This record gives sequence, C-alpha cells and structure tokens, in this order.
Amino acid sequence: MSAQEVSPLDRQGLLRRRTVLKGGSLALLLSGQQIAFGASIVAVRVWPANDYTRVTIESDGRLQSRQLVVGNPPRLAVDIEGIDLNPALRELVGKIRPDDPYINGLRVGQFAPEVVRIVFDLKQSVLPQVFSLAPVAAYKHRLVLDLYPEQPVDPMEALIAERMRDAPASAPAPAYAQPKPSAADPLGDLMAQQAGRPGPAAPPTPVAPSLPPTVAIAPPRPAAPPSVSPAPPPVAATSTRTDRIIIVALDPGHGGEDPGAIGPNGTREKDIVLQVAHRLRDRINSANVGGNPMRAFLTRDADFFVPLHVRVQKARRVQADLFVSIHADAFTNPDANGASVFALSQRGASSSAARWLANKENDADKVGGINIRAEDLHVQRALFDMSTTAQINDSLKLGTAMLGEIRNVGKLHKPQVEQAGFAVLKAPDIPSVLVETAFISNPGEEAKLRSASYQENLADALMRGIQRYFAQNPPLARSRQL
Ligand SMILES: [Zn+2]
Repeated sequence: MSAQEVSPLDRQGLLRRRTVLKGGSLALLLSGQQIAFGASIVAVRVWPANDYTRVTIESDGRLQSRQLVVGNPPRLAVDIEGIDLNPALRELVGKIRPDDPYINGLRVGQFAPEVVRIVFDLKQSVLPQVFSLAPVAAYKHRLVLDLYPEQPVDPMEALIAERMRDAPASAPAPAYAQPKPSAADPLGDLMAQQAGRPGPAAPPTPVAPSLPPTVAIAPPRPAAPPSVSPAPPPVAATSTRTDRIIIVALDPGHGGEDPGAIGPNGTREKDIVLQVAHRLRDRINSANVGGNPMRAFLTRDADFFVPLHVRVQKARRVQADLFVSIHADAFTNPDANGASVFALSQRGASSSAARWLANKENDADKVGGINIRAEDLHVQRALFDMSTTAQINDSLKLGTAMLGEIRNVGKLHKPQVEQAGFAVLKAPDIPSVLVETAFISNPGEEAKLRSASYQENLADALMRGIQRYFAQNPPLARSRQL
C-alpha cells in the first residue's frame, strides 16, 4: 500500500480522522480497522538492515496510527492513538543502533491525551510503509513501520559491491571497470572485475575464445578448495566452460520478526541458518566450477525479515545458477532427528510430513509480517506458480547430491529428496532446494547445530554436494555473456 492510499474501511468513513498532524502536502496514512483505546504496548523491536529498517510496536490491542513525512532534514512522525506513553515504548529510543542505515535517532512523547508521537530523525529520505498485523504465533497485535530507501537496494549492485570489496589488493580493478553496471549485462561487469580486465562488454579474444579469462592471467586453480574433500570428478570438456561467474543464491530462512523454530535451550533457527550460510558462502567464494569462479549471494545477510517471494526475486535478479534455502527442522516429538532436503512439487507433496513442513515454512510471511492484502498475496503466489519440470528435475539432482554428502557428516531424516509446495523454491528457472539441516527441537541436534565444528562439517557437505551437482550438470553458457 502506498503512503497515499487508505484502507477501504477508511474510505467508508468508519474511522475518525483527527487532525493531529498538520503537514500541508505531506503524505498521510490511516491504518487500522478498529481503534483499541486503552491498549498497552508490550514490546518494541528494531530490525535495521540495508534493504529496509523495521520498527515493530507490539500491543495487546490493535493500534491506529497516522504518519507524516517531513523533508530537510528528513524526519518521520508517527502518531499512535489510543495509548499512553509507557516504559516499553520509551525503550525504543535506546534500541536505535548507530549503524542503522536509515534512523539517526528518535524521540517519543505524549503528544495529546491517548496520542503518542514518535519522531524519527532520518539519515536519508525514506518511503515508509506502516501497517498492522493481527496476532499470530507468539505475537499479539503489531504495528509495523518499515522504512525503505527511495532508491531500492538492487541485489545485483549489492553483489558487485561486495565483490569489489573482496577483490585482492594485488589485483585492483581498473578505474574504468568501476561504474555502475548496465542493466543489460550486469554479469559482464562482474566478470570483468574478476578477471581484472575492462568491462562490461569485452568480446572473446580470437586466439582462445573458449578459455575463461582467469586462465589467461593466472595458473589454473584446483578443482576444489582444500577444505572440500574428496574432490568431485573434474568437468571434462572445455567446451562446457561458460566464461562467467557461477552464482549460488544462499537463502538463510526466517530472520527479524520471524525467529523460525526455537530449540529447547532457546537456540533460534534464524541465527543458526545465517551462520551456516556464512560458512557455506566462504567455501563458495573460494571455489570454482571447471575454471569458472563461484560467488555466493545471500538473500539476507543480517537479522531482518525477507518475504518469501522477495527471496525468489532476488535470486532471479542476480541470475543465480542455484538456490539453496537453509533451515532447521522442528517437531513436537523431541526424538525426531536428521537432515532432509526438499524440492518443489507440481503434483502435491511426496508425503503428509512434507506437506505439513511446507505449510509451516510458507507461514513465515505471516510471522515475519508483510504489508500486503490477502487478495494481492493470492495473485502474487499465482504469478510465481510457473514451476517447470526441468527445474524440478535439476532440483532433485542437486538435492540427491547434497543428501549423498550430508549422510557423511550427520544423520538423515529421509534418504531421498522429498517434494512439496514450498513458496521459496518457485523460481521457474533456477534449480532450488530447501535443506533442513537437523532438528533444532531435538536437544542433541540443537547442541550440534550450535557447534562451530558441526556447522563447518555441514557447510563442507553442502559444498561438496554443489560441486558434485555441477560436475554432472555443468552450468550452461549464457549466450549474452559470451
Ligand atoms: Zn525454517
């Protein structure tokens, strides 16, 4: 919903409008369908991230709010009606981190009887989205303030920026390779950066058109990093080389408002899966496929919530070759144990347990909280329902390769790749799997998931699985990059 829109109930005049804020042409938003006067704030949370910063105000009744954006210096004022200032709300001031990309600081005050005003001093102009969420899981009513940048963060540019930061000092990028990538050939820039040659559109040399540029300037690297053992069979034919960076999208599940499953000793799934993703990222970033460098792209690299369809969109934006969603399982029976790997299904789930799990993971949007009406969500889900048999077949191969490696470092819950309708696996053009690393609800496996050594073993196994998959299914050339 844009800042200018009001909900249908607002249009029907069911809500009283109070002229609490006077702002000329400034955007005004009413939210809420019932005013819960006398509600109490029970918690406040802040989730800063480059994509957006979220402030959540949780209360025991639904809150009504209105907001006002003020420029120069940029500020955002939010009036919350029906409450009085309480200690929980005052805590918000101390929860703003100095490195928050959007919020410099904030003030909270009782603006009028039963009206609390929060003024955010901003580091840059934002497009705020303010919306309410009904009670779900452990949460009561939530008023959510999402502060988005006016210029959305582009996953491809973020990936290139990270690549540039990591570039070895001994091989600085030429200045002319630095400008922002063109939308037409973003990977061309990445490749130019990798090879230290000017980009974005250097044509293949007539001398050795089939060789990747890295081979021309450096001795061939081993087929796998030292931590990856045993090495998969090498890719035989040079004709399968694609002269580009191989991108693996890693998708740490949950995040921010959505902790995922919580172990008996309080371990949160969202924290474990981010740690495992970081370990796998390190392995990917130092590996290659048949001489082509690999690069990991994380759909989230901090503790904030990313809606399921946005995870898929991000992976497609960077033209990922693979998508690996990382989770930890949970069940009511604390004895349940072992890892499992899932692919998408076009024809129902492979088991009732798989269907149950897919439903649970698909509920992440409800817990994490997205600003979308139910009917929009339906349309959005339908748009993503374009899965292909080819994608699923490749996903099954990738999942099988991973299971074959995970069984060497831990127990398997199911020996075969299972299938169900996971929303996050619906990129029609990217082989996509969801890995349930172990049962966080099992005290023994919770302890393993917390341990650095098991996380390392797991990351090694996933890396070997990826290498094994690519050895048997070399990434295809993308014509516009050759
Ligand atoms: Zn999960």
